[in-house]
Amino acid sequence: MANFDSTTAPALKSWVDSANAADCEFPIQNLPYGVFRTANSAPRVGVAIGDQILDLAVLAEAGLLKCEAGVFARPRLNDFIALGRDAWRSVREQVSALLSRDNQALQGNAAVRDKVLVPQADAAMLLPVEVPGYTDFYSSKEHATNVGALFRDAKNALLPNWSELPIGYNGRASSVIVSGTPVRRPNGQIKLPDQERPIFGACRKLDIELETAFIVGVPNALGDSIPCEEAEQHIFGMVLLNDWSARDLQAWEYVPLGPFNAKTFATSISPWIVTMDAIEPFRTAQPAQSPEPLSYLRQSGEHAFDIQLEAQIKPQGAQKATTFARSNFKYMYWSMAQQLAHHTVSGCNTRVGDLMGSGTLSGPTRDSLGALLELTYNGREPITLETGEKRAFIEDGDELTLRGWAQGAGYRVGFGSCVGTILPAHPVK
Ligand code: CA
Repeated sequence: MANFDSTTAPALKSWVDSANAADCEFPIQNLPYGVFRTANSAPRVGVAIGDQILDLAVLAEAGLLKCEAGVFARPRLNDFIALGRDAWRSVREQVSALLSRDNQALQGNAAVRDKVLVPQADAAMLLPVEVPGYTDFYSSKEHATNVGALFRDAKNALLPNWSELPIGYNGRASSVIVSGTPVRRPNGQIKLPDQERPIFGACRKLDIELETAFIVGVPNALGDSIPCEEAEQHIFGMVLLNDWSARDLQAWEYVPLGPFNAKTFATSISPWIVTMDAIEPFRTAQPAQSPEPLSYLRQSGEHAFDIQLEAQIKPQGAQKATTFARSNFKYMYWSMAQQLAHHTVSGCNTRVGDLMGSGTLSGPTRDSLGALLELTYNGREPITLETGEKRAFIEDGDELTLRGWAQGAGYRVGFGSCVGTILPAHPVK
């Protein structure tokens, strides 16, 4: 049975009419946090409701939202997140009440109401958090198996350590960008099969990875670790993440220390952080784990979430996007709690705003593969788009979009979209 609370009950409706449509991604049950600005306003924190943004900075200044003074009139969410779980819960409950259909406190206050609701169409979304550290895991068994078969061999696709621990690597935080930011095709070293030495040039195998990520809300001190059973309490919320990948650079550089330039040029995230409270009703069982994990990775209960995911590609100038991957977050083998427990078991500290990628979330079927590398067998079998064009990998001008949502009865808790368009590489001198 789903766990509903006073903010997630399916029957809740808002006086913001657009939030009540069955296909709206931001119903009153969602209330994700983001940072936005308009032509007339500095960056500030808002909550998405229907096709509007509720301006929490103005709401707090008007005395209708109780929280630490000034925490929403800032260009990042880190200071609010650092206040901790009680503050997150309090603000969520206050915002839910203020937006509820029968509540007049804001609805009936025309002077404030007209100032605090900003059409999303009039706002620019910014990176919601300052990201002190970015880690990417590799926790989909299907993806790890497929990539292992393509980069090594099918017999040894899944290495023995994969089933014992959540494999991950420390990524690059400085190049985490918000959805909508263009992505420059990287230059780098490429080793062609018929040549002894690498060439230097533009990536020819540019790819996406369909992922989610969680954002650390409650940090741990250096030397301490986060027990698996407590780890979910340390998570503020989730976003969509596109781990842009240069497969030709990756194939040459990744042995022995893993990806470097193949991944560091850009990582896109969606602008709205969907909180753990909002996805709680969609909790479900994760895949069975065999062998049984070592004691520090054991957890009881259900730790996956039923979040549908899609990836689309649209060539420059095309009218229509092609959806080439339909997957689900619940396929992830290692849970977010296990990832965080493993990350800190050595005593590694985390910080508020740390971003932890899930790894590509491929499912068991061909249409659920979350990277072109897998879908086209490393480019050998290009896919045909709805425009008739073929794609082995991403071309300049292509627009890539990730989407995600948890489907409720008559409403959906959406993540919005994570979009990036590819710019041509800088000329090689
Ligand atoms: Ca990845």
